[in-house]
Amino acid sequence: MITRLMEDSTMSDTMTATLSPEAAAEFRQKCVDFMDTYAVKTGNAIPSLDDQKAFLAAAAGAGLAGVPFPEQYGGGGYSLAHEKIWREVKGNYRMMDSEFIISHGMCLPMLNEYGTPEQKAAYMADNISGKTMWCQMFSEPGAGSDVASLQSKCELDGDEWILNGQKVWTTLAHKSDYGVVVARTDPEQVKHAGISMFILDMKAPGVEIRPIHQIDGGSHFNEVFFTDVRIPKDHLLGEYNAGWKLATAMLMYERVAIGSAGAGKINQPTYKLLKSAAEETGRINDPVVRDQLMQIYSMETTKAMVAMRNRAEQKAGKTPGPGGSLGKLFGSNIAWKMREIALEMAGPSSIAWDPSNASGAERQRIVLNSFQSSIAGGTDEIQRNIIGDRVLGLPREPSVDKGVPFKDLKVGTQTG
Ligand SMILES: Cc1cc2nc3c(=O)[nH]c(=O)nc-3n(C[C@H](O)[C@H](O)[C@H](O)COP(=O)(O)OP(=O)(O)OC[C@H]3O[C@@H](n4cnc5c(N)ncnc54)[C@H](O)[C@@H]3O)c2cc1C
Repeated sequence: MITRLMEDSTMSDTMTATLSPEAAAEFRQKCVDFMDTYAVKTGNAIPSLDDQKAFLAAAAGAGLAGVPFPEQYGGGGYSLAHEKIWREVKGNYRMMDSEFIISHGMCLPMLNEYGTPEQKAAYMADNISGKTMWCQMFSEPGAGSDVASLQSKCELDGDEWILNGQKVWTTLAHKSDYGVVVARTDPEQVKHAGISMFILDMKAPGVEIRPIHQIDGGSHFNEVFFTDVRIPKDHLLGEYNAGWKLATAMLMYERVAIGSAGAGKINQPTYKLLKSAAEETGRINDPVVRDQLMQIYSMETTKAMVAMRNRAEQKAGKTPGPGGSLGKLFGSNIAWKMREIALEMAGPSSIAWDPSNASGAERQRIVLNSFQSSIAGGTDEIQRNIIGDRVLGLPREPSVDKGVPFKDLKVGTQTG
């Protein structure tokens, strides 16, 4: 029989749990049966949001959404060893919940780790089952790499916080029900100290979402404006003015989520895509193309192994550390290399497609969107800084704003 953890168990209880070979095989079979039934066959097209939500609702019913999160909050209540098996099995099918990477990879672990019991009870189950979607609101004009320079501010007024300001590049804000937002709550403090994190209802009066149009014709992210948005007092996530600590934790979850999206086994999806392009264009026997294909193959294999190591560290109870930056950096290097090879091999047909066959444009969309990979979730330069500073132990970048209250700094549109 497949056993779950006790009702009131937490993630930290689940981390230490181990699985017998029989229990692992039984759980794997459960996952395979589920995926065989619910993974919608869509050819090359990404499943629609409705299909993704239906998939997650069914998965939640089977305890396979939010696998290692407590059952009392809508999770599977299984161990991280179960989660690993689930990822491995899922990795053999088309990704059915790609729109929920931020919701599940970043917002859910933050709610679980920092939410009050009331916040967990109110929000986790619907997040896990895909009934609600969540977004992340950190970046602002003038505060991207240096998020701590953010100027959106939140002030307490009786039982409510009042939020004013602007965010930018907010992925899926237009489809989200809730967002995790960071705002300045005390400008008298130094810039990293006076920030807090909140749960925001995206439908609240005063929240205005404007789409940003992308190179591939899509519109996946947005500008979000806040005008006197009222947030209930108890929607503060974590402690007052501790937002920077939480933001850092969420960025680590983000890098692991991006760097290991779809990971769970060693696979080479970009290699497969390029190999079929080489076959289509009759270049598969070209020694230069074969060499390029092998480069991508080995980069993807290494990236998958780095992702597995990061996941294993999480499984062993570690909060994601700077190692997540390695996987993220690998991902963007692969995307850039993929674009270079695709353009060299198939020329303009790697960036243009027949509009009547828009769903068959997977390679073209990946090529056009490859630029994003070295910006979203922190730029390549920032990942290199983190790796240099926190993995290799090199000296930190000089800091010019140490000890200066935020209100006296010249950042963004603030003149000091
Ligand atoms: C596809 C996509 C999705 C996104 N989704 C979200 C989201 O959902 N939520 C959200 O909050 N944000 C999101 N972002 C925003 C993203 O986090 C920022 O774009 C990113 O952190 C960079 O910030 P910036 O654009 O302000 O660039 P800047 O910080 O202005 O950087 C400009 C250039 O300067 C370099 N640079 C800056 N500082 C340093 C330094 N110290 N050392 C070396 N080089 C440096 C950068 O590497 C870059 O090349 C998304 C971005 C993209 C592309």
